[in-house]
Amino acid sequence: MKIIMLGAPGAGKGTQAEKIAEKYQIPHISTGDIFRHNISEGTALGKKAEGYIDQGLLVPDELVVDLVVDRIHQPDCTKGYILDGFPRTIPQAQYLDKALKEMGTNVKWAIDVHVPDEEIIRRMSGRRACLNCGATYHIEHAAPEKEGVCDKCGEELVQREDDHPETVKKRLEVYHEQTQPLIAYYRDKGILKVIDGTMDLEDVFKCIVAFLGE
Ligand code: ADP
Ligand code: ADP
Ligand code: ZN
Repeated sequence: MKIIMLGAPGAGKGTQAEKIAEKYQIPHISTGDIFRHNISEGTALGKKAEGYIDQGLLVPDELVVDLVVDRIHQPDCTKGYILDGFPRTIPQAQYLDKALKEMGTNVKWAIDVHVPDEEIIRRMSGRRACLNCGATYHIEHAAPEKEGVCDKCGEELVQREDDHPETVKKRLEVYHEQTQPLIAYYRDKGILKVIDGTMDLEDVFKCIVAFLGE
């Protein structure tokens, strides 16, 4: 089961991808988490990516495509995987298609979690992230058991630098301009499924499972 999660920043891709990964026992591959990990480790990739991320811009395609293609060649990916935050541009999608073709496989579904911009701005101000394990919370809709502490690994939760309102506005602009065209791209391939992401997160998940099958 090879799945792509589409949707604006804050639509709930990461939240749903984590639940899908657990239910179907496939790896959750989040390019945002990979970048944040590299930034906190101070790697060469992290140093190159940081400036773009802080400004709410996309990291250049060439810094992300090979990283993802290498990852999906790992042995844990043979059964399937869920890509969260990739592809984000048409050239990234074309590169992925080419790599998958060479591997003799293809993407099964692209799931678009649809949430209007106004709701995104509200959601992002309450998002809290664990930079250690990638878990995501919301101060009202998905609060951790203990305030400010990750349920999964016990690390401190933070508000991401790029989740401040001005940067969120910029990221939404970038989304509409560069990422939204992917919806038509996957619709044309006949593998797009649009899900209403404004529902409660458990209901969004139920819709996804109803679609993917038990
Ligand atoms: P969100 O959870 O808001 O959708 P992510 O955690 O997926 O955000 O990504 C955070 C940032 O990392 C993005 O704003 C972008 O700068 C960078 N990024 C992540 N994935 C990609 C990608 N596929 N192409 C370019 N930039 C990316
Ligand atoms: P993305 O990966 O698309 O950027 P996240 O999964 O990180 O989005 O979700 C963004 C924020 O909204 C997080 O704080 C998350 O806990 C919260 N959230 C996710 N899904 C829902 C939902 N259906 N209703 C309300 N809040 C949600
Ligand atoms: Zn954690």
